Amino acid sequence: MFSANNQDSFGDFSITTVINTPPWYENCYVVRHRPTGRQLVIDPGGEADRIAAVVTAGGGGADGILLTHGHPDHLGGVHDLQTVFDVPCRAHREEQPVIASVASWAGALMRQRIPAPRRLEYFTDEPVLAYDGFEVRVVFTPGHTPGGVCYVFDGFVFTGDTLFNRGVGRTDLPGGHGPTLAASIGRLLETLTPSARLYSGHGPAWTVAEARAWWAHAADYDFG
Ligand SMILES: [Zn+2]
Ligand SMILES: [Zn+2]
Repeated sequence: MFSANNQDSFGDFSITTVINTPPWYENCYVVRHRPTGRQLVIDPGGEADRIAAVVTAGGGGADGILLTHGHPDHLGGVHDLQTVFDVPCRAHREEQPVIASVASWAGALMRQRIPAPRRLEYFTDEPVLAYDGFEVRVVFTPGHTPGGVCYVFDGFVFTGDTLFNRGVGRTDLPGGHGPTLAASIGRLLETLTPSARLYSGHGPAWTVAEARAWWAHAADYDFG
């Protein structure tokens, strides 16, 4: 039923993709910094047991959870993962209303209850998040949601639902705004090195160079 977890390597890091169940097929990522053994979980959308198994297989525990945004398919596994690894879950302050409303509309969208994350830490602006041995740069990319962000590592980036492989996130959900998303994507791609790999919230990865070429011809997209 499940595809095997993919694993990629970038310098000091390994990245394991855990694709969550239908219908959303959301990509959760476990990033492991090999020299220190530190591990971060990006967007645990569900199936915390599968994600925890990947973390445990990496050795040690999880050192943090990062959310690109607060939609239920990206945070549905946070609560359960935090019962295994008692670590804070970080997100942008502008995403707080989205995260706060998850319980109400997850029921309608996903026909299931989403337990709220227990330890949330909000950052503002575009901080550089310091972990033991490495840093993660935040790029604020609102548009799909008001507080969407991308997380930039050395050589790879997590773009959530801001940008997919030849596609962009929907803007018809509460707080979405097409022109804002278009501006965010343009700005994001300008700041990244062409060889950097882009890991999105759904679907396969691609590179900044591929994304720039595609974006240059995506002007006929209707951003509302
Ligand atoms: Zn989303
Ligand atoms: Zn999503």
